[in-house]
Amino acid sequence: MRKFKKINLMRITGTHFNYYLICHRKLWLFANGINMESTSDLVYEGKLLHETSYPRRSEKYQEIELDGIKIDYYDTKNKVVHELKKSDKHEEAHEWQVKYYLYVLDQNGITGVTGLLEYPRLHKTTEVLLSIPDREVIREMLEKIDTIIHYEQCPERIPKSRCKNCSYFDFCWSGET
Ligand code: SF4
Repeated sequence: MRKFKKINLMRITGTHFNYYLICHRKLWLFANGINMESTSDLVYEGKLLHETSYPRRSEKYQEIELDGIKIDYYDTKNKVVHELKKSDKHEEAHEWQVKYYLYVLDQNGITGVTGLLEYPRLHKTTEVLLSIPDREVIREMLEKIDTIIHYEQCPERIPKSRCKNCSYFDFCWSGET
């Protein structure tokens, strides 16, 4: 049986996963404590989306914090993780973030859970499932994330055209024409 390197899941969150798929520099900045989220209008908008899209949802679902992940809306009855997003621009990253939630739940004995990615402004919902090959991909991603966040230097910027809406935009691009 193949042995996997032990990875400290306490340090790797769904946000790390999401950022890994969007930009390695963003992942490194976030993981190394350079956090622009609280000052970002976009993040404020995201919080507002959570508060306004489903005002009664918090009564219906549970919030779960486990091994570094935080799930805002978990339907315990139907075993469904609900993840709300503003736009589907980074849909692949969103999907892997939810798959990672399912993976962590599974690793902690909460099996058979599925996910729903919800884009209330687009009236769009995508089902997310965790397959056996996904688990292997997640293990590989965890190793890569662990390597990146331990780089001594911040990774290079990605092309500016892909930075729109990033909370680190001013940090990365101020002074550029
Ligand atoms: S602004 Fe661009 S290069 Fe900088 S962290 Fe964000 S996505 Fe990465």
